[in-house]
Amino acid sequence: MKKILIIGAGISGLTAAYRLQSEGYDVTIVESSKVPGGWVRTLVDPNEGNIEKGPQLIAVESGTPLRYLLDSLGIPLTIHRNLSRFIGIDGKLVRVPRSVSELFRSPLLTLKGKLRIFLEPLLCYFLNKNKEYTLHEAIGNRFGFEIADRLAPAIVNGILAAPPNEVSQESIPLFRMANEGSVLWRSIMRGHTVLSTPTGGMGELTQALASKCSIIFNTEITSLNYSQSYWHASGPTYDGKFDSILLAIPAPKAAALLSLISPRLSAILKKIEYTSLYSFHSTHAYNNTLDNSLGFLLHPSESEFLLGCFVSSSLTIPDKDKTIKLRTFVKINQNSIPRWQDIYSELIKWVPDLSPSNSCHIETASLAIPIMRVGQFPEIVRALEDLPSGLDWIGGARFGPGVKDIVDGIDSWMSTSRMHA
Ligand SMILES: Cc1cc2nc3c(=O)[nH]c(=O)nc-3n(C[C@H](O)[C@H](O)[C@H](O)COP(=O)(O)OP(=O)(O)OC[C@H]3O[C@@H](n4cnc5c(N)ncnc54)[C@H](O)[C@@H]3O)c2cc1C
Repeated sequence: MKKILIIGAGISGLTAAYRLQSEGYDVTIVESSKVPGGWVRTLVDPNEGNIEKGPQLIAVESGTPLRYLLDSLGIPLTIHRNLSRFIGIDGKLVRVPRSVSELFRSPLLTLKGKLRIFLEPLLCYFLNKNKEYTLHEAIGNRFGFEIADRLAPAIVNGILAAPPNEVSQESIPLFRMANEGSVLWRSIMRGHTVLSTPTGGMGELTQALASKCSIIFNTEITSLNYSQSYWHASGPTYDGKFDSILLAIPAPKAAALLSLISPRLSAILKKIEYTSLYSFHSTHAYNNTLDNSLGFLLHPSESEFLLGCFVSSSLTIPDKDKTIKLRTFVKINQNSIPRWQDIYSELIKWVPDLSPSNSCHIETASLAIPIMRVGQFPEIVRALEDLPSGLDWIGGARFGPGVKDIVDGIDSWMSTSRMHA
């Protein structure tokens, strides 16, 4: 039986391990920290309730690899069907339309802008399939520049913490160059995207995967080399030999391990930027505007550092005390941690009746979200071909910024990789 080592027990490494094991491989994971999950972890605080380290929501559509994964692990989902989402634009919160009838009533776009969206299935065939656009161009060419200028920046900035004119269309798998045809038509055929959370929190997914895998914790891999027909992975407390090694770690960390094996790939991975974030978890008195809401994201022109805020209490069991719990995202671009008082002053510009918060818990996420610039993704694809047989990089940045992208990506990687026994 082929022996495989996976470096990293985040959602990428765990999903790959689970899939490879089910195909009969002998898989071991090594993880530098003492717990599995990477960013997909739920901290349970008896006073504060669930605090998510990373993602709070996943888009689960029927027939997708993520749906199959959740079903095969028997993970119950809480579905958030009717929660409102807002965009902070022109100094106020505007609700994102949830249906075609709401779209036509929304003040976000002019009538011309709204009608332009429906031309996408026709106009998409005039796009240059060989050109890599920025996300702003890709969205504008397909759905019109009103959408690209007014609605998309808040959503893209909320996901990637970078404005759409600074990132490649390759950053969001839906817009990948190879994805020909109509995005609108595909979305209609796929049905309404349902945002969900595992009922016990996002960490339930990675805990369930970890329980099926063999993981060695507190073990960092610092060097890789090939000798006597095996790949060797070693670190201060570990040395093992395998038929194959998969690096399920962020690009800069993979770059360090690959610097002697593939200098070209290593140099390209090192250049991928990641956004780092602070998230502030705060509790407030019941608030009418935010009740039954997923929260809001800000148009990049509206705030220098605040990206938006999620209403965590809408995602869990309804709060009997009628308090709301918020998670406010702040981009790290300064040396000192912002003061809660400054964050609160920003929040009340958008929700003036938000009560002060007595407690505020701060989490830091470094190397959180990959930002793909134009030209980087095709470079990665070409340079991955340099990797010798038995070695591959399957870090999240290869597949997209979200949990769904990673699980979909691992699924298609399984069918095309050179990992056949
Ligand atoms: C604040 C935040 C909010 C997010 N929100 C969403 C969201 O709403 N929806 C969504 O879908 N996605 C969201 N994401 C993105 C998503 O969480 C990540 O894309 C995904 O978790 C990345 O998983 P990964 O396994 O590739 O990497 P990681 O989670 O970074 O896991 C890598 C693992 O490898 C280990 N490791 C690293 N180097 C070594 C080494 N040398 N030896 C051994 N082990 C090593 C690390 O300890 C870590 O456990 C969010 C992320 C953050 C941080």
